[in-house]
Amino acid sequence: MKSKENILIVGAGLCGSLLALRLGQRGYNVSIYEKRPDLRKVAISAGRSINLAFSDRGIKAMRLVGIQDKVEPLCIPMNGRMLHDKNGDTFLSNYSGRDHEYINSISREGLNALLLNEAEALDNVTLYFNKKCTHVDFENTTASFYDYNTKTEFIEDADLIIGTDGAGSVLRKSYYLGKKFLFSFSQDYLTHGYKELSILPTEKGDYKTYKNALHIWPRGDFMLIALPNLDGSFTVTLFLSHSEGEYNFNNLTTPEIVTEFFNKEFPDALKLMPNLIEDFFENPTSALGTVKCSPWHYKANTLLMGDAAHAIVPFYGQGMNASFEDVVEFDQILDTHQGNWEAVFKAYENTRKKDTDAIADLAIDNFHEMKGHVANPIFQEKRKLEMALEKHFPDEYSSKYSLVTFNDQVGYNEAMTRGRAQDKAILNMIADNEINLNGDLKAILKRVLKETQEILDEDQVAKTMGH
Ligand SMILES: Cc1cc2nc3c(=O)[nH]c(=O)nc-3n(C[C@H](O)[C@H](O)[C@H](O)COP(=O)(O)OP(=O)(O)OC[C@H]3O[C@@H](n4cnc5c(N)ncnc54)[C@H](O)[C@@H]3O)c2cc1C
Repeated sequence: MKSKENILIVGAGLCGSLLALRLGQRGYNVSIYEKRPDLRKVAISAGRSINLAFSDRGIKAMRLVGIQDKVEPLCIPMNGRMLHDKNGDTFLSNYSGRDHEYINSISREGLNALLLNEAEALDNVTLYFNKKCTHVDFENTTASFYDYNTKTEFIEDADLIIGTDGAGSVLRKSYYLGKKFLFSFSQDYLTHGYKELSILPTEKGDYKTYKNALHIWPRGDFMLIALPNLDGSFTVTLFLSHSEGEYNFNNLTTPEIVTEFFNKEFPDALKLMPNLIEDFFENPTSALGTVKCSPWHYKANTLLMGDAAHAIVPFYGQGMNASFEDVVEFDQILDTHQGNWEAVFKAYENTRKKDTDAIADLAIDNFHEMKGHVANPIFQEKRKLEMALEKHFPDEYSSKYSLVTFNDQVGYNEAMTRGRAQDKAILNMIADNEINLNGDLKAILKRVLKETQEILDEDQVAKTMGH
């Protein structure tokens, strides 16, 4: 057992900065290298901030490092989805029947800056910016960098290197290109991409639409969403096919076509977005994909965490939350395998990968649910029924969404298995007119739980027979 004291982290994004803070709190010497400039020193103009849905798994990580009180002022509660139809009519669908369960909108920059401040305040953590990692030699545990300030290259030696360098990870690329061990890797792009837009505040600085919701304009093959910012603006995201359908990113090429598209599909949003054309042509169109890979580690030398190990599509609002939960799980495993890093890395992947694989699959399911099903009558009836069950039987029922989002003691894999079985049970019973909103709730709960258990048992039998 070799003692590893000097830990090098590549990427000071959300996961890397939290990891640096936690490892610093545990007493390790941590150096963290980020390719971008220090975001705390670069001005971001109004309406240009990017926000994320932040929920229980992420909050648990903030508690671990003791900064939940500092995070709270950055949060805007969103109690439900505000659905907008083509006539501009709206319908609020709560995320849970339990009042204390809601998600939050949080600024990516604000949260990242807080984590950097907290990490930097520790004597044993050093941050470096404008230094891009170009290669990791995982056999010798060294990382090569290009320094944008001095325009020079340099190599850093460490006892161990952790790559939290996001979906395009250089450490992951080094594993893949190195061909020194059996490294499995998959990357699946969606047919849809996204573009960020904005709804600016009123002249007085007020919100132009309801503040405490995640707004969705579901249109079957595409959708628009909006999350509130503290300054009164909303960050709006258009999810649309790159090349299919009447309107797509490839053919939305002129201000006239973009206006026509919004006028036809999102007329109420268009009224709030006089800046649409400017945003649309200034902001990039980006791709969405899922990355899975294994193993995450090489011997006791290197490890992938966060999006670098498991990038997912954003439709469950869980990528950051999952990356924060990575740090919580890693921290627990550090307690049990003190000092034996290879055992730590192995145990971490063993417990964690089934859960990150599950949230990747759930996020794809939610892509279809959000753009289409949320507007479907059977789906809406199911949501109302689940809301009522959660409200009246708070200790006995949690929807799939609640299991994933509000139950951090349940792993994503278990939430997926149980949640999918429940969905199947309820949707079948509504479609067959066996249950409805006017029925006796206690009897409905009993039937749903029984039917769910039967589905779970059948799945278990099918699995066992398959082996
Ligand atoms: C459109 C969209 C919406 C999303 N919405 C949500 C949401 O609502 N809720 C949620 O929980 N998640 C959401 N996510 C997911 C979330 O953004 C990611 O899961 C999260 O940022 C992962 O954190 P990370 O630190 O692993 O990676 P990143 O945040 O990508 O950080 C990686 C860091 O590494 C740096 N870096 C990269 N390469 C190098 C290099 N070679 N050398 C040095 N530094 C490097 C980058 O500059 C960056 O700072 C969304 C993602 C997208 C794309």
